[in-house]
Amino acid sequence: MVIVMKYNAAAEEIASVIRNIESFGFKAHLSRGEERSVIGIIGDERPVEPEHWESLQGVERVIRILHPFKLASRDFHPSNTVIKVDGVSVGATKVVVMAGPCSVESREQLMETAAAVKEAGAHVLRGGAFKPRTSPYSFQGLGLPGLKLLKEAREEFNMPVITEVMSPEDVKVVSEYADILQVGTRNMQNFALLHAVGESQKPVLLKRGMMSTIEELLMAAEYILSHGNERVMVCERGIRTFEPSTRYTMDINAIPVLKSLTHLPVIADPSHATGKWDLVAPIARASVAAGADGLIVEVHTDPAKALSDGAQSLKPEKFAQMVKDVRAIAGAVGRTA
Ligand code: PEP
Ligand code: MN
Repeated sequence: MVIVMKYNAAAEEIASVIRNIESFGFKAHLSRGEERSVIGIIGDERPVEPEHWESLQGVERVIRILHPFKLASRDFHPSNTVIKVDGVSVGATKVVVMAGPCSVESREQLMETAAAVKEAGAHVLRGGAFKPRTSPYSFQGLGLPGLKLLKEAREEFNMPVITEVMSPEDVKVVSEYADILQVGTRNMQNFALLHAVGESQKPVLLKRGMMSTIEELLMAAEYILSHGNERVMVCERGIRTFEPSTRYTMDINAIPVLKSLTHLPVIADPSHATGKWDLVAPIARASVAAGADGLIVEVHTDPAKALSDGAQSLKPEKFAQMVKDVRAIAGAVGRTA
């Protein structure tokens, strides 16, 4: 349930509605808009009739929320959430480009790639140190030494860093080195991990489970938000379908659907969605045209030798061209990049 206050509702009327909500044992979530304030009720409020809330002083109307997610819902929080990471704002007019290797492999590889993506116009450096690989025999990531290299690159190129965290015990150490914590597709419903990143102070990029619905993605975001971390971005990275010509199927629909359902920034990952480097730029362009607030893209200086996801990694020149084209699309839809 969401309570929309009157245009000129007094501060005391707002405070009194909040006290009333809390007197039932519910939590109140106040969102102050430019025009009017909106108060969300968190808890199972079904036993209380909507007429009760409507009768309170200063209330204009009461909206029933049909979705099970609340803190993530645009009904609760009508304006876009903008997440500041160092100097980079995610969710504002500028489309944020995150790029770098799938895995951190060596100092040389990371530094060369970081220099190239920075030069091409990326705003955030990506790189995996803890890798969730399908096979236990595949490269599992450098772990802590990989995090240290990311921090080095962060300082050298003055770019915030995003990296994946796979288990609740690692949240502390990953937070010491990274600016954004990535929760991967395979962990979208790892509730202990969602709890742990929800208690951390770092922004989180939550990837959609490859077999999860949009509602399940937003419920996973709700876990993080409900543990106190308001800085969550959601990411469409492709889902499993019957179509075998690409690694996954980019659910391009999910981008405008998410933008309408949630105030959280929506990021698109054309690399994992397609699995093929030559499809990455077209799907990046389509994602920005569809309203994505950002992109996360894999880049490698020598994809043939990459220890993970080489087939979907762009060489630096191709990435630079992609950024140029994305800028043109961003301009066409009222944004910059
Ligand atoms: C990655 O970003 O390298 C990754 C493993 O992504 P996903 O969780 O979407 O597969
Ligand atoms: Mn990858």
